[in-house]
Amino acid sequence: MKTAIYPGSFDPVTLGHFDIIERSSKIFDKLIVGVLNNSAKSPLFSVEERVKMLRDVTSHFGNVEVQSFDGLLIDFVRGNDANVIVRGLRAITDFEYELQLAQMNRVIAPEIDTLFLTTNLKYAYLSSSMAKEVAMYGGDISSFLAPEIAEEVRKKYAVQK
Ligand code: ADP
Repeated sequence: MKTAIYPGSFDPVTLGHFDIIERSSKIFDKLIVGVLNNSAKSPLFSVEERVKMLRDVTSHFGNVEVQSFDGLLIDFVRGNDANVIVRGLRAITDFEYELQLAQMNRVIAPEIDTLFLTTNLKYAYLSSSMAKEVAMYGGDISSFLAPEIAEEVRKKYAVQK
């Protein structure tokens, strides 16, 4: 059985992330979305909220699971008996960082490969931080996020104001 891990911050999950999840769920027997609990960043949503939102939008996929993790990605991958890491590539600006990360992980864990899916062109410009910035100033975020996620983001900024 081929299990892949799609790791990220997902603060919050965007339609671009969703597209990568949907496509990789067709390639692998099982896909685990790994939500990084990174204490160095100060996310808009807690890790529990991010996991819940991802579960809500992926519940109809029979083979997608969502878990949080902290520490080394490679340990999370090994702990789930997975052998592939999925990452999305939007633009050349993603490339340098992603290549470095993939190469470093390969040195630590040669048995694990990183697979890059190029973004759906519709979402090539899209990031969680851009969507949050638009929301912060009261802009329309309905083209960036699933309706239930957009609602959660609006609520957050309404509370923060
Ligand atoms: P990280 O903090 O690890 O970069 P993100 O949640 O921002 O986490 O992104 C997780 C993964 O999804 C990364 O591989 C990123 O390149 C990819 N990704 C983010 N936005 C998009 C998008 N619009 N289209 C395709 N891939 C994307």
